[in-house]
Amino acid sequence: FIQVYAEEIMLSEQAKGTILVFRDVTAETEVDRMKSELVSTVSHELRTPLSSIYGFTELMLKRKLDPERNKRYLQTIHDESKRLTDLVSDFLNVQRMESGKHSYDKEVFDLIDTVREQTRFYQASTEQHRLQLDVDENHEFLIHADKNSMKQLLGNLLHNAIKYSPDGGDVVISLTHHHNQIELSVRDFGLGIPSSAMPHLFSKFYRVDNSDSRKIGGTGLGLSICKEIVRAHDGNIDVESILGEGTVFKVLLPSVSDTLIEMN
Ligand code: ADP
Repeated sequence: FIQVYAEEIMLSEQAKGTILVFRDVTAETEVDRMKSELVSTVSHELRTPLSSIYGFTELMLKRKLDPERNKRYLQTIHDESKRLTDLVSDFLNVQRMESGKHSYDKEVFDLIDTVREQTRFYQASTEQHRLQLDVDENHEFLIHADKNSMKQLLGNLLHNAIKYSPDGGDVVISLTHHHNQIELSVRDFGLGIPSSAMPHLFSKFYRVDNSDSRKIGGTGLGLSICKEIVRAHDGNIDVESILGEGTVFKVLLPSVSDTLIEMN
């Protein structure tokens, strides 16, 4: 974004002119955008669970409730507190990653184990979706990486695939070798993403601004965390999507070749 100022100058009767000042305000515009998205995230994502916790605790304190209703209210309070805890840890995570304070404990392991574990975990969270693994069982997918970060990376992608397929459906997770890289992809057949949103998807606090996404809720931090994790592992993350048809996120990570392991 370029801001232009024009100013007339007059040095003498003969020497008149105009000065044009061009200023690159891309950085300021980006900061403004992030600020306003942060405000809308905080106002929605913090206020909604907080007011529900406040409301239910007040009801429980003031009224004598039957055990069934008591349990239901407690469950809501519990779920909303969990939502707030997750939100705060996302904030802290991005903060730590960006300041370079986050430490990655890297080791060599087979990514298929993490993929299996996370697929099982997220499958247990939904009955509407079918999570399918598409992997060549004869291959190893060895990477040198931080296991927890890989869990978080895949977790965020699976969570989104499920969340943004509100009518249910398949989610396909695949692992393949590409020369000396491993490609991990998560494909869904859900809402899809408008092409205008594509350049901003991995920015902090960015959320697609349409009624579907707003209804679903989120912080706009998940994908920025994914991007940071992938960067810290010398990889790459990309997305392809067709609005109304579905989305695929593809992550490329350097693979550890067998020879390298033998050498160590
Ligand atoms: P959040 O889901 O908390 O809003 P993310 O950073 O994970 O934040 O995602 C940013 C935005 O990208 C989301 O708000 C959503 O609009 C869009 N998005 C991410 N994953 C998908 C997906 N699988 N299908 C459709 N839209 C998606």
